[in-house]
Amino acid sequence: MDTPPFSDLGLPAPLLAAIETLGYERPSPIQALSIPPALEGKDLVGLSATGSGKTAAFALPALALLDLKAMWPQVLILCPTRELAVQVCEEVHRLGAKMRGLHATPVYGGAPMDRQLRALRDGVHVIVGTPGRLLDHLRRGSFDASHIRLAILDEADRMLDMGFKEEMDELLAALPKERQTLFFSATMNPGVSRLIRSFGKDPQIIDIQQKARTVSTVDQSYFEVRQRSKVEVLSRILDMNPPRLGLIFCNTKRSVDECTEDLVNRGYAADRLHGDMTQQMRERVLKRFREGSVELLVATDVAARGLDIDEIDVVFNYDLPTDPEDYLHRIGRTGRAGRSGRAVTFVFGRDIYRLQSIERYTRSVIRRERIPSVEQVEGRRADLIFDGLKERLEAGKFDAYQDNIDRLLEQGHTPTDIAGALVTMLREASGREGSMIEEDREPERPARREKTRDVRAPRDERREDRGPERGARPNPRFERGPIPHEPGMTRLFLSLGKTHGVMAKEIVGMLYREAGLPDGCLGRITLFPKHSLVDVPGEFVNQVMERTRNARLRGRPFRIDVDRGPV
Ligand code: AMP
Repeated sequence: MDTPPFSDLGLPAPLLAAIETLGYERPSPIQALSIPPALEGKDLVGLSATGSGKTAAFALPALALLDLKAMWPQVLILCPTRELAVQVCEEVHRLGAKMRGLHATPVYGGAPMDRQLRALRDGVHVIVGTPGRLLDHLRRGSFDASHIRLAILDEADRMLDMGFKEEMDELLAALPKERQTLFFSATMNPGVSRLIRSFGKDPQIIDIQQKARTVSTVDQSYFEVRQRSKVEVLSRILDMNPPRLGLIFCNTKRSVDECTEDLVNRGYAADRLHGDMTQQMRERVLKRFREGSVELLVATDVAARGLDIDEIDVVFNYDLPTDPEDYLHRIGRTGRAGRSGRAVTFVFGRDIYRLQSIERYTRSVIRRERIPSVEQVEGRRADLIFDGLKERLEAGKFDAYQDNIDRLLEQGHTPTDIAGALVTMLREASGREGSMIEEDREPERPARREKTRDVRAPRDERREDRGPERGARPNPRFERGPIPHEPGMTRLFLSLGKTHGVMAKEIVGMLYREAGLPDGCLGRITLFPKHSLVDVPGEFVNQVMERTRNARLRGRPFRIDVDRGPV
């Protein structure tokens, strides 16, 4: 569903500023539909599952109504569990980061009373808690419910399932009658209906549980990956099966920037697309993607809208989307025009529940895959080199180097050794250094989510299920020779390289910072041991050379000039 920008929802400036910082690009459907009526003071029933962005859907209007000078509880949020209470309170703090003097506190059972009592006594605007402990505080008098203007029931169905009916009834009955109430629930059932009838005032019902849709031409799988290992795992997957064109989706602009930078630093031809770019920059990036000089495009959902390229052979959900509809849109970018496509999703921790709701929504099974080990990736890299070698030999497209080879043979080296050494050199030259991830250390993970795994494919089937192996397609990254630069770009020579410890991202940072280049305008950056080459739009060449005259990289001065090629 297309949603209006956050700035159209009627939210005050400090909240819009926090949303911007968090990098949320546009509201999820539940947010777009709930926030305006909630701000008007209406009661609501939001039917939507975890992962739909419902926390911000209620936390934003809650924050908007607070009077920060009044040091008493004004908003009450009821949650079924301690974990959820803590998470919701964290989201309240994140969204309220630009509201000076905001106090929100979680209150839950199983934790010492004194700290909670202190927090309540010191004055708090928002209380997020589990029903049992909150009732305790109400009865003791430590929770003053008399100024509550908004009550929110998060996961009302779950709270009832957990047997909190009496506590919820007593708590809600103790709140001022003229308060506003928002009910959020994944499902509607008689218990939830009764709650709404007893405690709601003619609430508007917002149901975003859409009808299911299916995608049959896309092979869908997922990997369990910690946030910090995402780039490493992405690299391994890419190296196992180098795509011609791959699209990588992130949920926020910040994530797009970080992912692109990490990929470029690892030597991939990656670029980004996000909502802040001008139409001109967008078109430039898209053109390069279409032509294949950019192989990996990292984008947000909004930025990728309207992207119409049939040759994308893999889509990555680097971040799991909040809306199942977005998942469908994303993976629908591959498997088009009669081709088969692949969709790879990264999940971790609680994401698995969101993935399950996506499976229900799309009526498809998303297969779990194991992260390839460093050894598998190395083996595959060598295989790809041999595939390319075979193709070259068969096509007869190589120079003979007869004299040099004869000399090596005369020195007693066997043809097998010579070929082996060459392939090793090639692998080293083209390879990226993989880093360890936790999964490398403990390949057999504890059976925490074994249940989820069982309902999917059995282990052996999963391995075979990887989809058709690719034919012997040469990997463009293994091709040697000078890399042509695009029209309109000028290649600059920079006198520092790998041996000076310089990284591509530092060059990028320095150029944007010192030369004041517009975002997204840089082209390819190639690092050599003693120098680097940077492609810059022709019109900025003088600007770069003038403004970086006194700049330093890794503390060293450097020379920057138009590249004249090898001398
Ligand atoms: P929830 O359904 O509230 O548990 O939210 C799921 C995740 O989505 C959380 O990590 C939020 O931080 C994130 N999120 C919520 N709203 C948005 C949005 N509009 N854009 C991107 N991410 C969001």
